[in-house]
Amino acid sequence: MMMVGATLVVLLLWCSASVGVETGRPRYHNTAEMEAALRAVADACPDITRLYSIGTSEEGRELWVLEISDNPGQHEPGEPEFRYTANIHGNEVLGRELLLYLANYLCSRYQAAESRVTRLVDETRIHLIPSLNPDGYEKAAELGHQSYRTSSAHGDYGRYNTRGVNLYRDFPGLGKVLFTNRNNNHKVQNNHLRIPDSYWSRQIANETKAFLKWAEIYPFVLGANLHGGSLVAVYPFDLGQNPSDLSSYSATADDELYRHLAGTYARAHPTMAKCGARVTCDNLNTTCNGGIKNGASWFSVPGSLLDYSYLGTNAMEVALELGCDKFPAPDELPRLWNDNREPLLSYLEQVHIGIKGFVRNNKGHGMPGAAISVQGIQHDITTAKDGDYWRLLVPGTYRVTAYWKSYEETKTCEVTRDGPATTCDFTLHTDLTSDMHSFLKNNIPDVEASPSGVAGQYQPCAAIAAYLITSTVTILYTIYWDNDS
Ligand SMILES: [Zn+2]
Repeated sequence: MMMVGATLVVLLLWCSASVGVETGRPRYHNTAEMEAALRAVADACPDITRLYSIGTSEEGRELWVLEISDNPGQHEPGEPEFRYTANIHGNEVLGRELLLYLANYLCSRYQAAESRVTRLVDETRIHLIPSLNPDGYEKAAELGHQSYRTSSAHGDYGRYNTRGVNLYRDFPGLGKVLFTNRNNNHKVQNNHLRIPDSYWSRQIANETKAFLKWAEIYPFVLGANLHGGSLVAVYPFDLGQNPSDLSSYSATADDELYRHLAGTYARAHPTMAKCGARVTCDNLNTTCNGGIKNGASWFSVPGSLLDYSYLGTNAMEVALELGCDKFPAPDELPRLWNDNREPLLSYLEQVHIGIKGFVRNNKGHGMPGAAISVQGIQHDITTAKDGDYWRLLVPGTYRVTAYWKSYEETKTCEVTRDGPATTCDFTLHTDLTSDMHSFLKNNIPDVEASPSGVAGQYQPCAAIAAYLITSTVTILYTIYWDNDS
């Protein structure tokens, strides 16, 4: 009787998550089927979705993204952007299916006007990439789920891309740049570190290049990269602070925040954080520690996605190891979705913690590229195109400075425990130069308007000419008509 009840519950859960997609026995989706499933969600919820590609894999498969937002295709000033990416290791397949479930869930619950999902979709721009390594997935799928029961079985077949690149570790090694500068007592830039020339001179995987471009175009605030093979939420740094550190804790300046973010996922999961109930995964067993782990304390990894995100962009990112079995049996999928649904939603909601707002000049124009610096945390973030920013922080009272060149303003911002992000706006009393700065930044074409999602080309000469015309008109206007400033 209990078995029948449990089966019914699982079936109900599966059906409740299925809008616009096939019903029936759960199964994995190959690349074509995954695209069809994403299109089905986009068709079922056209007002809140946009399907776009960030490029192609080495074998020419599209790297699809489903965007979910109340205004798809545009960055709404003040609204944070979030990403979930999965299957970067082609044989770690659960995350790929979970993101299809999540897309369905957000679509169906939004249509049903469910308050939590409506709030999330209205107030967040969400991007989902079910597979960053579709070539690897197709190889792994040849063997099928029986072959990946444990982490040791069939090991790495399908894990890497078609050229044998471990995509997770194919990113610019900015951790090494930071630690080398620190060890040599050089002045340390704590954000948006310059990618070393040596990185560009080697062969970078297509999938990585596509990701790097994507991460540059969209002002992501938070994300997570879904894996399998263990059950733990991993946070940066992934690289040890010294070359000899093979498994030593390597803290970022945002260690407390990262532990909170990783812990949010782990605590919402039925077993990840529970030491007694936790499964162990052969040689990948980690100590429990509330279901979270600093990457470098597990094993030091150079060039990781997490370290690149933190040191090269504004985005905070964790890696989620979703279970020992990299390729669970298809019948397990509804239960695994049920286990991970609340963690995925809770983690997504973390994009709304901390402080947010705008940095404007004295004319009220948003200032892109201004920095937000929090006293005591050696990691600044920068404002996006409209001067908007999001600084994730755990609860507390913070002294925050916004600055651009020599202009700055400092204020105290309070972050409460349960509230949404506190609004902390700044005004910098700048001159015309900053107007020019804003103008040039604002004349970068809106790449997102392009249906292919491919970045448009910035036309510096056209932008400067347009600026000169506009600024002449502005100066004439200021001299003759505007006497109140
Ligand atoms: Zn992995």
